Amino acid sequence: MTTTDTHCPYCSLQCGMRLAARGGAAVEILERTRFPVNRGALCGKGRTAAAVLSPTARLTAPLVRAGRGGELREASWPLALDRVAQGLERAARRYGRDAVGVFGGGGLTNEKAYLLGKFARVVLRTANIDYNGRFCMSSAAAAHRAAFGLDRGLPFPLEDIATTGCVILVGGNPAETMPPALRYFRELRENGGRLIVVDPRRTRTAEQADLHLRPAPGTDLALALGLLHLAIADGLVDEEFVRTRTTGFERALASAMAHWPEHVERLTGVPVPLMREAVRVFAEAHSGMVLTARGAEQHSKGTDTVRAWINLCLAVGKAGRPGSGYGCLTGQGNGQGGREHGQKADQLPGYRSIEDPAARAHVAGVWGVDPDQLPGPGRSAYELLDTAGRDGGLRALLLMGSNPVVSAPRAGHVTERLRELDFLAVSDVVLSETARLADVVLPSAQWAEETGTTTNLEGRVILRQAALDPPQGVRTDLYVLRELAARLGVDKGFPDDPVEAFEELRRASAGGPADYAGISYRRIRDEDGVFWPCPDEHHPGTPRLFLDRFATADGRARFAAVSHRPSAEQPDADYPLYLTTGRVVSQYQSGAQTRRVAELNEAAPGPFVEVHPRLAHRLGVAEGELLAVSSRRGRAVAPARVTDTIRPDTVFMPFHWDGPGRANTLTNPALDPTSRMPEFKVCAVRVERAS
Ligand code: SF4
Repeated sequence: MTTTDTHCPYCSLQCGMRLAARGGAAVEILERTRFPVNRGALCGKGRTAAAVLSPTARLTAPLVRAGRGGELREASWPLALDRVAQGLERAARRYGRDAVGVFGGGGLTNEKAYLLGKFARVVLRTANIDYNGRFCMSSAAAAHRAAFGLDRGLPFPLEDIATTGCVILVGGNPAETMPPALRYFRELRENGGRLIVVDPRRTRTAEQADLHLRPAPGTDLALALGLLHLAIADGLVDEEFVRTRTTGFERALASAMAHWPEHVERLTGVPVPLMREAVRVFAEAHSGMVLTARGAEQHSKGTDTVRAWINLCLAVGKAGRPGSGYGCLTGQGNGQGGREHGQKADQLPGYRSIEDPAARAHVAGVWGVDPDQLPGPGRSAYELLDTAGRDGGLRALLLMGSNPVVSAPRAGHVTERLRELDFLAVSDVVLSETARLADVVLPSAQWAEETGTTTNLEGRVILRQAALDPPQGVRTDLYVLRELAARLGVDKGFPDDPVEAFEELRRASAGGPADYAGISYRRIRDEDGVFWPCPDEHHPGTPRLFLDRFATADGRARFAAVSHRPSAEQPDADYPLYLTTGRVVSQYQSGAQTRRVAELNEAAPGPFVEVHPRLAHRLGVAEGELLAVSSRRGRAVAPARVTDTIRPDTVFMPFHWDGPGRANTLTNPALDPTSRMPEFKVCAVRVERAS
């Protein structure tokens, strides 16, 4: 038996674990108590992660479609790679380079994300690369950067949650999404701190809160403005902090004072006395944090919503000090690193702007190309998929580690668009719902079969170490990129050795906001991860940002003038209820991996619709009976789950499944104007008994 220290393949906590293997096969997952983030604790997904390595659960040979409309058939690697190179090249020749797109994933390692971005810009020379992280935390990233000059999910380690005075958690449910992190919230309360949860649902996390504010879906922005209004009216503003560490308070003050608490109560349903108590507890705490997650961010006003919560932090002096600040609980395993190294439409490695001439020159220098040759920013994830097969849009797509048929908004439409592509290639571990549409499917190696780094929600760069060889017939994504680049005329600069890829990434990121220059595999191993920025090998890394100054040009954080506006869709006579979507503890994202693990599937076998008992009574439906949920985009059918943890005007569906109960058939792709985040978290629906 051999054991290898590594990390969980799923969420952004990136829990440390030890994989035991015998005879080249994974046997079980063991605790790794030394890793500080989870100290050995794992959720059910992590504990069963060895099951997804089994060759029976996955692809072990490339698949090539036999003619248009034909079947996918097993093929050799050279043939499959030739087909991909030809498909991409043909579309570029016929329609132009930007008709070829690349769609990445927040689960790809930093090395893959880096080389995928380089492949798009240097080999394909297309502007159109984006990734599914756009659907995850892009609003928080945009707000973070605008307010503080730099975006790192948490600007402090998770352990600081345990000792702060008060946490306001907005639209996050770590009890379902990252259970080992609950320990920090429990310790917070044991240490005398207070937990305030903002969520329309009484989630398992909300049940542990000191105060639970339950705004109507889509009204978090109004709530934050109401709280700021009360902080100002009740004399809770930290004037010294505002004067010395921030700019723009007057503008934020004017917009907050226009949002009267009584009006905010009517919009949100949160009583004024509860708002008043929440803001007093937060302001008077010795230190405090606001943490947002998808519930606050996945809106057509997600960026403004996060800015409004940051305004509140700044007004009461809860940022840029030990134990205080704003942070985002990112979702995917490498959602953070995935956006730092070049698979986002508007960014180059090191978290540099693709429109910044100095950044272009630096990265082009590392890549050995002319900066003028680098394309500019391309379309965002949904816009990319929405143009597929249309005139002037995408004609060929290379997709790695993502399953938009299940996870994209308005998923029925996205599926149709993908079918209209001239050519689709998918690299994945399993035959996902999206891979089933592809012309070529490439079976890729996964977490315990390849070495690579990821960056967790704290900005801690960690190392997943290979413990096993991939099954016969499976190759790494780095191999795929090297082979495709060579077939498309670039035979240098795409190493399939992750160490070489990381060394180049270090150089490309050097001097950028997400500076990895001083981080090496050796240091990560020795130090249980290294926090970026880390500009040289003698630098200790930066667990806590902004303590002396913010990362803006003048060192001050920026308030924003933001105002409430309704969600793109409001309930009306035809569609009288809100739909909100989310996760369950035993499934992960589109479920492509976790639905194949027997224990997880048994615990969460399919979708459901949460309805309040009053609504269930009105509909004449009992627990387990089928409900049809319709929006302007389609219809989904799933059993009712009757519970008073949901508001009577709202239904909830988890989004991990395809088929008749696919929640994203219903969701609205209305985009945030800044982050281009779709409005997953609220739309208008009608609910009926399914006939
Ligand atoms: Fe894996 Fe996240 Fe569960 Fe930790 S909390 S074991 S990283 S899925």
